[in-house]
Amino acid sequence: MSDDVAATEPPDQSGSDATAEPFTYNGGRVDPGESANIRYGISETYLGDPVRIPVTVINGELPGPTVFLSAAAHGDELNGIEVVREVAHDWDHSVLHGTLVCLPVMNVPGFLAQERYLPIYDRDLNRSFPGREGSTSARRMAHRIFTNFIEPCDLGVDFHTSTRGRTNMLHVRANMERSDVGRLAKAFSSNVIIAGEGPSGTLRREATEAGIPAITVEMGEAHRFQRRLIDRALTGVASVLAEFGLHRESSVHWPGWRTIIDDDNEKTWLRADAGGIVDMKRGRGALVEKGEVICTITNPFKEEEDIVTVEAPFTGLIVGVLENPVVYPGNPLCHLVGLSDDTLTALERERTTESSRSELRRND
Ligand SMILES: [Zn+2]
Repeated sequence: MSDDVAATEPPDQSGSDATAEPFTYNGGRVDPGESANIRYGISETYLGDPVRIPVTVINGELPGPTVFLSAAAHGDELNGIEVVREVAHDWDHSVLHGTLVCLPVMNVPGFLAQERYLPIYDRDLNRSFPGREGSTSARRMAHRIFTNFIEPCDLGVDFHTSTRGRTNMLHVRANMERSDVGRLAKAFSSNVIIAGEGPSGTLRREATEAGIPAITVEMGEAHRFQRRLIDRALTGVASVLAEFGLHRESSVHWPGWRTIIDDDNEKTWLRADAGGIVDMKRGRGALVEKGEVICTITNPFKEEEDIVTVEAPFTGLIVGVLENPVVYPGNPLCHLVGLSDDTLTALERERTTESSRSELRRND
């Protein structure tokens, strides 16, 4: 069929009246059945050179939702970069219903410097969305990303890791009061979902408020690739693409057990009450009993009388934990969340099942 015929009389391949649409952004378009690697200018350096972010748009031949996958809004949070790159470049999208907008590195200046924030003024790109023209450098960059590559989407997933010096078990953060966001969060099939709308200016909150349901995925630590977490996140992406009909040959994944942490759950950041060197006894994803020792804090001489012992104030799951083993008083040691009896039972049952795919049984 010639292009002319296709343009006037698009074939109905979906079994419905819908037809695949081109993806358009300022300066270009990607037609159905095509994909494009784009370097899109979002700012300029001191030398007047463009600051360009890599974007891959894969537009399926068949109609369906437009989904963004984004990473490195914080420049040193690398795990998500590999998730987005593998989906964009290693997966077979020959029967894609809809469009994928892949943004593996949003904060290019931070990525080049291997820093969380945009360098120089330490602006947080992930507090600058949806951005604004004529505003700060961070908001201008956020605006160019948001208007061109987020607003055309129907839903999206933004990948993060813990802040440098700490690590997170893989979990989703989502505004569970919205059913569309809840559907997306559950589709990602993590064991843990932390409910909440998120801080103002974050990509997931601002996208959600603009009518594009979005979630954050937290996974592991900054400055490295953690293969098992990346694989687990890829399972989540495949599950989302199945749930929303982009990849119809895939199926939605059930994580084995799931807990949604909301205001009813006990949860706390345990903080150090003494400065010193931390000996962490339990890791990311560990289940700890009330009264169990999580870590000790010692002085340089390891003097017995100065050892501070930190116990779990309730039975729960360690969602986030210190990696860099030094603290001032007040520094966070671990993020502990309480679980319902049902969840505890399911989790314990799963731990005795060899075939489990949960991240909990592994340490990376
Ligand atoms: Zn982050």
